[in-house]
This record gives sequence, C-alpha cells and structure tokens, in this order.
Amino acid sequence: MAARGKVTIETEECKGCGLCVESCPPKCLELAPELSAYGVHPARYTGQACTGCGICFYCCPEPGAITVYCIVTPTKPGVRGGHHAPAL
Ligand code: SF4
Ligand code: SF4
Repeated sequence: MAARGKVTIETEECKGCGLCVESCPPKCLELAPELSAYGVHPARYTGQACTGCGICFYCCPEPGAITVYCIVTPTKPGVRGGHHAPAL
C-alpha cells in the first residue's frame, strides 16, 4: 500500500524513549542501532507505510523531535493536508 504520510525525526531532539516506536499502528518507526550524541538510540522512520495519523507526534515527550506530514492527493476530495507540528 502506498504511504499516505511521512515522518521526520530530529536525532538531536530525540531521547530514545521508544514511545513513538511502540505507539505507531503500522510499526513503521524503529530505534536506530547507532547511538546519537546523547548516547541513546534515536527513533527513525523505516521509510515505509506511514499513514500520517500523527499518533507518534502526540505521544512524543520531546517538542520538536517528530514532524508528521500528510501526503495530499488533490484528486481525492476530503483528504486532510498539512502537518501536525505547531508553527514555530
Ligand atoms: S504518523 Fe502514524 S503511521 Fe506515521 S510514523 Fe507516526 S504513528 Fe506511525
Ligand atoms: S517518542 Fe520522541 S523522544 Fe521518544 S523515541 Fe520517539 S522521537 Fe524519540
């Protein structure tokens, strides 16, 4: 199935708690095997199957770590657009 969303994770903001990995319904996040500058395993997107649901954004305790994007298909009316992160 084509991805309907996309997620980016700022490695410098992530504390490696794993909440987003546990909460993602399609399990498309994982903790990287390598350590970040903070000495934790940061979350990363596997690159597949994100639905843009935003659950990872809402469960992440670190502001600015996760940004979720919805992939908008203009020919389909009613599809949500934009992203879940607040404007800075
Ligand atoms: S937006 Fe939803 S599907 Fe995409 S990575 Fe976050 S929890 Fe998973
Ligand atoms: S919930 Fe936030 S801080 Fe925790 S692993 Fe995911 S991106 Fe990192």
